[in-house]
This record gives sequence, structure tokens and C-alpha cells, in this order.
Amino acid sequence: MHAMVLKKIGAALKWTELADPQPGPGEIRVKISACGVCRTDLHVVDGELPEPKVPIIPGHEIVGRIDLLGAGVKGLKMGERVGIPWLGHTCGVCPYCIGGQENLCDHPIFTGYTRNGGFATATIADARFAFPLGEAGGDVSLAPLLCAGLIGWRSLVIAGAGKKIGLYGFGAAAHILAQVAKWQRRSVFAFTRPGDLSTQAYARSLGAIWAGGSDELPPEPLDAAIIFAAVGDLVPSALKAVHKGGRVVCAGIHMSDIPSFPYRLLWEERQIVSVANLTRQDGIDFLRLAPEMGIVTKTTSYPLNQANQALADLRAGRFEGAAVLVP
Ligand SMILES: [Zn+2]
Ligand SMILES: [Zn+2]
Repeated sequence: MHAMVLKKIGAALKWTELADPQPGPGEIRVKISACGVCRTDLHVVDGELPEPKVPIIPGHEIVGRIDLLGAGVKGLKMGERVGIPWLGHTCGVCPYCIGGQENLCDHPIFTGYTRNGGFATATIADARFAFPLGEAGGDVSLAPLLCAGLIGWRSLVIAGAGKKIGLYGFGAAAHILAQVAKWQRRSVFAFTRPGDLSTQAYARSLGAIWAGGSDELPPEPLDAAIIFAAVGDLVPSALKAVHKGGRVVCAGIHMSDIPSFPYRLLWEERQIVSVANLTRQDGIDFLRLAPEMGIVTKTTSYPLNQANQALADLRAGRFEGAAVLVP
């Protein structure tokens, strides 16, 4: 197999030939056909997550087909198309796993962070954490659903049932979530970097009823706001944009420091919460509804060996929607 390997934090990924991996008991080997590029991959490469592991193959929005079954795998078939998400394994016995919060497991394994991921031609996955994808939709267009879509979905559920939803940072997750929110008959207010008129126009084209800079207030107070950009300054901005009792959801795994702000912005039962990882149930719920919701992902494909270019373009905001690597 071949992979783009992070050998040192902060270094460019290196095209590397590796021995074909063999699945252990309960594992599958997946021949990869597409892998989305997520902001979390940038945090992995930059060493912004705790206890970074190298060498590692990043990538956790994997679409591919099973080409080898480990011993004891049930419910999956050779050749079946599956999606491999960020949540790669949980312990099953900690209080969080037992209590239905496996996203907070004390001993998790994360795809592309603490186990090798999808910037490769093949990978190994715990069969219990693979999502059967069926045959509808193309591999590249499905890949961004595996994290951007899933985390967006979990964030929207946690934002509550309010109709007026603000999205701060209009990248891969927001471009999917805008479509979900519209399908749910909610109103989306999109916030971009100040002056980024083209992204604002793009957000409107996906159904946002208002789009503006993150330094602006929406035309009416919001029920909830979801922050996808890794920018702590957006937390007080979003608090200003929600009404009494409104909720601000921080959806990223990493954020720059949140500046201090006057208590009156939080007062009146406004809330700040974060979203961490996903549960398998999130994936089942979201992937079952995705075809019905008619989500169309906008993707920019790169050959696998151009992963460094894809990461650089993501960092610089050079494409709309999501980047996807194709072996
Ligand atoms: Zn656990
Ligand atoms: Zn991700």
C-alpha cells in the first residue's frame, strides 16, 4: 500500500510505500476510494492536539470497499462499501460508553490521529465502527459526510430545535449543514471572514437567508449559533448574536483562546457548549437521512500524493466546500 505519512509534527506529509496491513480479529481492511480532508487533519499536522502520535497517516473521512475480513467480523461483507469516521474504537466499559456517551470514552482510538487513517490506498478499521454506505451516491461526494456532515449534524442537534441558526465559518461542515437546516425548515444565517463576499454569496446560494461578516450582527437575534471556525474571538461575537436563553455551540476540536468578555453577554441564560467527536448512533441517524435530505456536497478532488497541496489550500481557504483525496 501507499500512504501520505506524517513523520514529524509540522512537516510535510511524505509519500511512502508500506507493507499491506492485515486485519486483526474484529477488524476489516478497506481499499480506499476517497478520503475527505478536514480541519482536524491540519490540527494533527500542526501538533495542536494533545499527545500527538507520529508517524501517523491522517484522514478520517474514508470511503472504500472491504477487501479483507478479520476473524469474527459479523454483519459486513467482502466488497461492501463502507465509511470510516473519526471515532475508530471505544472501550465499551467506561462510564461514558455505558451511559450512551461513547463520544466521550475514556480510552478511545481516533482514525487518522491515534490510529492510521485514510490518506492512503488502504486502511484497517474496527468493523463495529464502520458505517455501511450502500450504493447510492459517488465515493468522492460521500466522503465529506463522514466528518463534516456528522459533526455538523451532532452540532445542530445540540443547538436545539430553534428555527434561526447562525453558522460561523462557512467551510465543509457549514455547506452541508446549511442544506440540512433548510430541509428542516430552519433559517440559516451565515457568518464568514469580514469582507469574504464570495463565500457569503456561496452561503446564500445554499439557502442561507442572510450572510455577512463575523464582525456583523444578524438582522434579528438568533436561537442558536454554531462555530466551526477555530477562532476563539467568535465566541463573544456569537453570544452577542443570540437572544436570551440562546445557545452557542463550539464544534471544533481545537480553537484559539477565547478572549475575556463582559458577563452581560452570557447573562440571561445564554449557554456556551462544545461538541466532541461522534457516537455511532449519530452516524446511523445522519447517514440514513442524508439521501432523503438531498444533500449535494461540493468537492475539490486531489490525487492522494497531492495531500500537502490540499492541506495548504484548506488552510488558505482556497476552495468552497470540501477537499477530497483520491488514490
Ligand atoms: Zn469507553
Ligand atoms: Zn474531521
